[in-house]
Amino acid sequence: MHSSTYDVVVVGAGPAGSTAARVAAEKGLKVLLVDKSKFPREKVCGGYLSYKTLALLSHGLSESVIEQKIYGVKLYDGQYIGSKKMISQLLGITVQRSSFDTFLVQNAIQSGVHFIDSCRILQVENMKDTAGVKVYSENGIFIDPFSGEGIYYAMKSGEIAAEEVAESLKNKEYPLHMVYAQRCKREFYVDFYYSLIYSLMNGRKLSVHAGTSKGQKMLDNIVSVMQHPHAYRGIILPRRIHKDSGKRKAESGE
Ligand SMILES: Cc1cc2nc3c(=O)[nH]c(=O)nc-3n(C[C@H](O)[C@H](O)[C@H](O)COP(=O)(O)OP(=O)(O)OC[C@H]3O[C@@H](n4cnc5c(N)ncnc54)[C@H](O)[C@@H]3O)c2cc1C
Repeated sequence: MHSSTYDVVVVGAGPAGSTAARVAAEKGLKVLLVDKSKFPREKVCGGYLSYKTLALLSHGLSESVIEQKIYGVKLYDGQYIGSKKMISQLLGITVQRSSFDTFLVQNAIQSGVHFIDSCRILQVENMKDTAGVKVYSENGIFIDPFSGEGIYYAMKSGEIAAEEVAESLKNKEYPLHMVYAQRCKREFYVDFYYSLIYSLMNGRKLSVHAGTSKGQKMLDNIVSVMQHPHAYRGIILPRRIHKDSGKRKAESGE
């Protein structure tokens, strides 16, 4: 039987795994990427990639993978389009996950990754002097609570994992679960916190405001969330500052 030794084995070739594998290979590591499914494989998903996700694609994106380009957002009240906002800048695209995930795997292969599909990993034994981080799960670990977007966070966490694995192998410092978890926490949790607040404040009310001036403001906010990784902070904080200053004015009798 053919046997090889790798610096890194990445289990799961979704956006997180194939990004982690590609970045690790670009850092000069010998990488094996395995997936239990036969590729191209189907994946239940809306297939929406925000502008900030597109910015992560260092190899660009082949036109054949793009299903639709998004230049606007509509707010429905369940029956008709209540409000809509169109802009000239691309806000995102939709893809079929089977072709998008295959495209990411091909990028990884081009960077030197060895890919094996139809191979389910059943067990990982803890070995001395090995580094390991969990960078994937079916349906993802990191999901924006308001928008439900997960592909951006899967790819970003894959990048972080590859950087930390490469650093850890160089310095022979194991294990690195904590380092990886702390970096992901620093990178995502503040945004998720504000996203959760925004979701609790507006999630159920979105359709109620279709066609109103509040609905129009919500569309402005959604557009900014689609474009900027840290948009929620900017949306929530001015409200707080506004509220606090109102409270202070009331207390001082101004
Ligand atoms: C209904 C729905 C709609 C969504 N819509 C969107 C959207 O529009 N936009 C967006 O950004 N996000 C969306 N998401 C979230 C998005 O799908 C996930 O965040 C993303 O797929 C996570 O990527 P991943 O690489 O972590 O995991 P996955 O894409 O789930 O990849 C994991 C891979 O690991 C493989 N695997 C698992 N176990 C093993 C094993 N033991 N051995 C070998 N291989 C294994 C699987 O076959 C799979 O290919 C949606 C999620 C759901 C559920």
